Amino acid sequence: MFTALLHYTRGLRSARAFRWGKFRMRIGMLLASVAGVSLMATAALAQQSVGPVDQTKGTFEDKFRQFEGEDWPTPTDYRNASGAPGHRYWQQEVDYDIDVSLNEATRTLTGREAVTYTNNSPDALGYLWLLLDQQNYRRDSLAERSRTYTASDTVSVNEILRVQRMQGWEGGFNDLKVTGPDGRDLPFTIVDSMMRIELPRPLATGESFAFTIDFSLPLPETSVVGGRSGYECFTKPGEDGNCLFLAAQWFPRLAVYSDYEGWHNAQFLGSGEFTLEFGDYDVSITAPADHTVAATGELQNTDILSAEQRARLAEARTADAPVYIVTPAEAAAAEARPARSGTRTWNFSADNVRDFGWASSRKFIWDAMGVDQESAEHPVVMAMSFYPKEARPLWDTYSTRSIAHTIDVYNQFAFTYPYPTAQSVNGPVGGMEYPMITFNGPRPVRGDDGRLTYTERAKNGLIGVVIHEVGHIYFPMVVNSDERQWTWMDEGLNSFLQFQAEKLWDADFPARGEPSSIIEYMVSQDQVPIMTQSDSLLQFGNNAYAKPATALVILRETILGRELFDRAFREYAQRWAFKRPTPYDFFRTMEESSGVDLDWFWRGWFYSTDHVDISLENVTAATLESADPEVRNRAARERFEQEPISRTVENNRGIETVVERDPATRDFYNATDRFTTTAQQRRDAESAARRADADRRAAQGFDDNIYRFTFRNVGGLVMPVILKLTYSDGSDETIRIPAEIWRRNSQQVIWQHVSSKTLVSAEVDPLRETADANRPNNLFPRQIDERTLRLAPPPPPGENRMRDSDVEVSPDSTATRVRRPAAAAQ
Ligand SMILES: [Zn+2]
Repeated sequence: MFTALLHYTRGLRSARAFRWGKFRMRIGMLLASVAGVSLMATAALAQQSVGPVDQTKGTFEDKFRQFEGEDWPTPTDYRNASGAPGHRYWQQEVDYDIDVSLNEATRTLTGREAVTYTNNSPDALGYLWLLLDQQNYRRDSLAERSRTYTASDTVSVNEILRVQRMQGWEGGFNDLKVTGPDGRDLPFTIVDSMMRIELPRPLATGESFAFTIDFSLPLPETSVVGGRSGYECFTKPGEDGNCLFLAAQWFPRLAVYSDYEGWHNAQFLGSGEFTLEFGDYDVSITAPADHTVAATGELQNTDILSAEQRARLAEARTADAPVYIVTPAEAAAAEARPARSGTRTWNFSADNVRDFGWASSRKFIWDAMGVDQESAEHPVVMAMSFYPKEARPLWDTYSTRSIAHTIDVYNQFAFTYPYPTAQSVNGPVGGMEYPMITFNGPRPVRGDDGRLTYTERAKNGLIGVVIHEVGHIYFPMVVNSDERQWTWMDEGLNSFLQFQAEKLWDADFPARGEPSSIIEYMVSQDQVPIMTQSDSLLQFGNNAYAKPATALVILRETILGRELFDRAFREYAQRWAFKRPTPYDFFRTMEESSGVDLDWFWRGWFYSTDHVDISLENVTAATLESADPEVRNRAARERFEQEPISRTVENNRGIETVVERDPATRDFYNATDRFTTTAQQRRDAESAARRADADRRAAQGFDDNIYRFTFRNVGGLVMPVILKLTYSDGSDETIRIPAEIWRRNSQQVIWQHVSSKTLVSAEVDPLRETADANRPNNLFPRQIDERTLRLAPPPPPGENRMRDSDVEVSPDSTATRVRRPAAAAQ
């Protein structure tokens, strides 16, 4: 049939003319008889002569093409094509021995760090680069000089306060001095937020180099200047006058030298955080004598605690609820009578970490609880929280318990928590992570009337931020991705796991990660792909947190299924724990482990700003045409009789026509119609039946319904089509059509389903699991979109300068007089 028709049509123009001719002939006459086989023939013709021409000339894009040789780098011996570390993988090691003291009065840190840098790279290094992130508080920093503003007519109070503060205060490292192993000064150069130290001679593969750096650093007031560290003082009327100190990115830290980028020297602009080398830390922190200090690692000189506190700490190890190590009463006593002099030195050690953070205050209440896990090295992790009384009772109830829950959930998804402690510290930083220690913000509120309450948002905010920041101890503090380059690799993966943990905390938790919640962002303007460098991201939170998290939720629940996803995700986490993955290592591992090609998924979700909107445009129902001409003609007549009668004939009703009036004008053609079976039709049917082979006779007996669905990809992002079909007997079924249906045409496809049942309606994505942006076009037949319209608010009063100046006139004169105030109640 297809070839016979093609014989009459050469090229596009004649094909169109042919089809139009056919349709014109049948419209109003025989349209309904164009069914089954003949419709299929028309469709086949259209695809041969029109489809491919449209695609190759214009809009065809192969959304399933492979990334290898395109956006993904060539595999190397250091990171291989399966997404795993290669057989020659290497990374540098940097060990630190630091002494630092906190001057509470000047809010300054003074320190000396002894660094041992081990070159495991195959390259000789002539110099070392270090990160001085705090330099972004210099007035002439790249970060300060490249701040941009919107064209808004308003400015926030905080913005003005910050401008005022930066006029009188300047951050960044002071008194820097670098000394080599022989005690002689090493020359160094500061380039904005980075420092290059010249080595006396090139450092060969396998060699170590030891040097010391002296530094001092003024801490910023976090609420004014912003940032991830700093201090907060409780100096409002009625407050105790004491401060909290958070130290982060607080010492010169070695930049990364990697196999894929050499020295990582993107400057610190504020958004892109950092990546560092792993190493062992021994840090001694000297603080006022009555301070409690929390830090990355484990406290070594526990005799700094009272015997009672040490006993509580031992009790907490096996407790199933948080135990106070420093009680609220002990903290209150320290607050009330601050030590005027004297210091204590807290010594911490941490192995195989990529950074070190700490916090110090006499205000700290400290609670702790042991978390059991399957681990020979760390069978019990000490979950601990440090907070001022202003954070109570939210923190007593939720902080340490949230740490414990995070470890339970993340251990399942990733790997066993590899450190002895996990800590949450309340302070002026809303949420920030370092190895084994996190800074978190939410607190209750005390009203002007003295009433203490907390909002639901603060409660969920605290649980959520503790999960998030403790989750970061896994990603990126252990799976050491480069945050300064790809924010999504830690924020997105971590937000995905945070979502899982929150939903396992409480099914009703308002967690970020539900597909339906990302739609508003996915259709918004001013978007960049997830695979954009951190400091150039637009809509930061949605781009780097919510969208990748949601993409992974969809990948897990809808595309791969939990078994394949969870296995692949664990594979990635374990392959790259304590190593340095790139996005391509993640993408490749997820594909290699699951056995599912996902290039189309990464392209759509991570490399484009397309959104999901699949429209079910049309559904056709067909049955196979009968071999019996009587049956065929009867069916055609039934369809014809359902067609509306011509308006002219309808309006002529009552006017006798010639054929009705004069019997002499009626003949064979008036006695029969085109649905009357002819002798030739019968002969043709009999001869066809004689000639039909067994296959054709078997096919002729097929009497199921053939449904064809036209899907249009409005949003551009290719996705599986999840289709719910409801039948006339009340039953339904949901079919999960793979994304690969879009491989030849990513814009519109026709898909077929055969059923003995009669279809009454169809719905795309019935459980709303794909972030499909436009609901109404998922339904066939379409439904009325029900809405509520609010009455517009009354218009504001127009300008009236006389009224606003409190004057009035009399009916007799335009002279104004001061309006008398309305008479008071009499
Ligand atoms: Zn984060």
